[in-house]
Amino acid sequence: MSDAADEPPVPADEPPVLYERRGACALVTMNRPRYRNAQNSAMTYALDAAFYRAAEDDQVSVVVLAGAGQHFSAGHDIGTPGRDAHLPFERRAGLWWDHSDKQGAESRYARESEVYLGMCRRWRELPKPVLASVQGACVAGGLMLAWVCDLIVAADDAFFADPVVRMGIPGVEYFAHPWVMPPRIAKEFLFTGDRIDARRAYEIGMVNRVVPRAELEPRTLELAERVAQMPRMGLALTKRAVNQAEDLQGLHAGLDSVFGLHHLAHAHNAEVAADSLGGMDVAAMKKQAGA
Ligand code: ZN
Repeated sequence: MSDAADEPPVPADEPPVLYERRGACALVTMNRPRYRNAQNSAMTYALDAAFYRAAEDDQVSVVVLAGAGQHFSAGHDIGTPGRDAHLPFERRAGLWWDHSDKQGAESRYARESEVYLGMCRRWRELPKPVLASVQGACVAGGLMLAWVCDLIVAADDAFFADPVVRMGIPGVEYFAHPWVMPPRIAKEFLFTGDRIDARRAYEIGMVNRVVPRAELEPRTLELAERVAQMPRMGLALTKRAVNQAEDLQGLHAGLDSVFGLHHLAHAHNAEVAADSLGGMDVAAMKKQAGA
């Protein structure tokens, strides 16, 4: 979710994702600051290309994912001029067919299987460590991006929320909530839709470090450089080991089962409300939150 923030407009030809190599680190930056880095499909595929490039480059040992501007990401694009949810896209995360000429749940399920759940799973498997560098809003779809990263460094102004229960939907498409935080805290997080700040995220083990906002980039890169000292194969296998442990604790199967509930909610909304989001746009979500 996002709307225009008080930042200068990015020219239309500006790439939605920036890629830069700094030493052993690939810095991948979401670049729609005017829209709080709301994720449209153009950004999703640019992120995928950037991660693929980082995986291929033997000079790169570690990847940092950041967001340009005041916010990491305010979520999926549900209302900017660049929203492209209805358009076809090249499919890379799975074999679901083109959603754009399909109807109802078939269209939604095909699209979200690819661009949301499929892409997040694909990125989580990148065989190099990925660090998220999070400032400002990390909301709804923004959480999905931070959660597929291995380490999270948060600025002291970062905040985290999943308000999509307000749409009648049980959380975002990548339902890792009960794995990235204790289940009772996950319930509170979802039942209230309230923000938690960086300090609270640290207390519950969801982020690794909290640093002053002005030091976010150097402190993240410092940690990345430190990780990069380890041998490539050691890092790849260690990442796989911990990811496998999470999957043995039910993460992979849990994501699949809740993805079905998520789509039950979309379909219910489409049946009884104005649309599959329960008629909620950015303004309505803010109003319900009392913001
Ligand atoms: Zn959805």
